[in-house]
Amino acid sequence: MKTIQIPSGTMTLAESKAVCPHCERHIQFEEIESKYMKADKDPIRIKCKCKRFIGVTMTWIGDFVAFEL
Ligand SMILES: [Zn+2]
Repeated sequence: MKTIQIPSGTMTLAESKAVCPHCERHIQFEEIESKYMKADKDPIRIKCKCKRFIGVTMTWIGDFVAFEL
């Protein structure tokens, strides 16, 4: 779960908007966040459960999006 600030208040999301381009699975915030916080670069590279690597970057509202590497 993640609470993000939007102009009219806050919004809570269980799932990020990051979708694996290979298997189309929605990637949970927990899978991304710890890696993203530790990494000092953006985008980061994570391994999906389909065993392929995808790139993940954070949007201006603090959500994540995934893309094919
Ligand atoms: Zn996948």
